[in-house]
Order: sequence, then C-alpha cells, then structure tokens
Amino acid sequence: MENDVNLCDSFEDIFISELDSDGFGDIKCCNHCSEEFMENWPMSFDRISDIYRLEVDGFYENSRLSGVYSKEEFYYNLASLKCPRCNNKLENYFWAFDFNFDSFEDLELEFQYLKNDINETPFLVLKNNLANVVYKLLEKLSKSINSEPIEIQLFRGRILNTDEVTKTDFLAPPKKHTKEGRYNHFGVPVIYAANNDKTCFNELREPENNLHIAEFKIKESLKLLNLNDINKYGENELLEAMVMSSVISSKAQDNSNHKPEYYFSRFISDCCKYLKFDGIIYPSVQIGKGENYVFFNTKLLTEDNLIKYEKYDYKTTANTVYNS
Ligand SMILES: [Zn+2]
Repeated sequence: MENDVNLCDSFEDIFISELDSDGFGDIKCCNHCSEEFMENWPMSFDRISDIYRLEVDGFYENSRLSGVYSKEEFYYNLASLKCPRCNNKLENYFWAFDFNFDSFEDLELEFQYLKNDINETPFLVLKNNLANVVYKLLEKLSKSINSEPIEIQLFRGRILNTDEVTKTDFLAPPKKHTKEGRYNHFGVPVIYAANNDKTCFNELREPENNLHIAEFKIKESLKLLNLNDINKYGENELLEAMVMSSVISSKAQDNSNHKPEYYFSRFISDCCKYLKFDGIIYPSVQIGKGENYVFFNTKLLTEDNLIKYEKYDYKTTANTVYNS
C-alpha cells in the first residue's frame, strides 16, 4: 500500500473506509458548514447518540491512515477531499454519523425549495412535488392507522402572572386569542400537551417564574400520527428525515408573531386533520426527547378531566399543589 501514497484517487476510499471501520459513519458537515447544518437538521444532534466531531489531525493519528501515509502525504492528499455537503476542503474538524435515510444533501436542498414555496405561496404548497409526496404518504398512513383506546395523563403549561389561577386558564384559548403555533394556524385553537411536566417546562423555554402546570386525563378512542416513533409504521425515510430537519422541527423563537418556520408543520397538521386524524404526537424540539401532543378537538380537555394544577418550581421537584 505504501507504493500508492501519491494516488489521490485511492486516498478518499481509504479515508472513508477508515471512518466506516471505526464506526464513525459518513461525513455530514465540516467546520465551514456545521452551523448551517445544525440549523437545517436541528434534531440530529439531540436524537442521534453515535455522533462524532473528529479533528482531522487526531483522526490521522488514531486511524490506520498514519500507517499508510506520512503526515506530509496525508495533508497533500487531504487537499483533494471535499466536504460532501459544502464542497469545501476538509480541514480542522468535521462531523461524522449516520442518518437512517440516504442522500441527506439532496433532501436538504429539496427541503429548502419546499420552505421557499410555502413561504411565498402557502395555499399552493400542494403544487410543490415534495409536499404532494408527503400528503400521499400521510394519506396512505391514515388508511393503516386506526383509532385506538387511549388512557393517558398529560400536562399542559401556562405562564400566568397571577396567583388567581383557575382551571379555565388551562383550557384551549378562544379563537380570537389563538396565536399561530407549530401545528395550528392563527385563530384555530388546538390543545398542546406533553407527557410530563419537565417537557412543558422545556417547551416553554424554561421559565423561572410563573409557570403553572395542569395535569389532565384523556380516556378516548383516538387516531394519532406518532412522529416520535415513525419506524413503527415501516419504511418512512422521508418522514423521519422531516422530523430531523428544520422543515418540521425548527427551533423557532417563540417571542415572534411571525413564524414562517412553522409553515410546513402546519401543512402536516392540515393534512392530518383532513385525513381524520385526531392529533399528532411529536418530539420536543427543545431537547429532542419527551413527547408532545397536539389534539385538533379542543373539547378533549375540559374542567372535568383536569385533575389538578400547580405552580412549577424548576429548582425543586416538590411543587405546591393549590387544588386537587
Ligand atoms: Zn462542509
């Protein structure tokens, strides 16, 4: 092999096979493009455990590359190796891991086109090929997902600057006070909830004061799309890629009234509503874990099935119960 050190065409193969045999997966981004990559794939760093930031120098030293190439030869050949995402030379460091889907670079580009189309002409998004594919995919899933009896405790947080809290504070807001959210349009109330109080705390951007959390019980037969566990529906690489991507899971700033980053997740919720789903389960974008729920029927939460509410103290787990 030492005779081949100057053959640039084999260097890439050796480099990639070393990454593979050490279990690092494929190169996803480099020091030139990692910031943009994280913005476009926000959930990957939260949800994928085998994710590696590799220094070029350290990778050379700790892999068999150092047995094949002198350092000078390594850096000479490295100049021909490009980041697959941004096409810049690999230098300093890069990130390597595997997605459960192929061609992330092509998908990332298609997601950008989709975001542009939906921002410009939201009512015509079905003219976009990818949006159409997603609709057809959800339509197919809707035929195989049935209503199931569900009995679950859920939590709903509100930031209330008063101690005069009542049960009605936790019910769905009236239409005129309904802001746009990740899965609802302006003026169209839904119920957002989480499967534990910590997720509510995270979703509301970890408020240190005045967070009140209500616990309620749902005992219904419901048809839900679970974006947290897509694999259970079989091969759904596109949906999985969308959950990893900012196209659905953008880490939006909640203080803005204009949230274009929610447009496509709201398209998903429109599709689900039209296809007679009762709601969607989706991962918490803030931490990548935890289960969030959105229900389209706001009557699923009433004063009768609201079990208790309390002020959430993030410092201690011993919360003060006002009412039960
Ligand atoms: Zn790059």
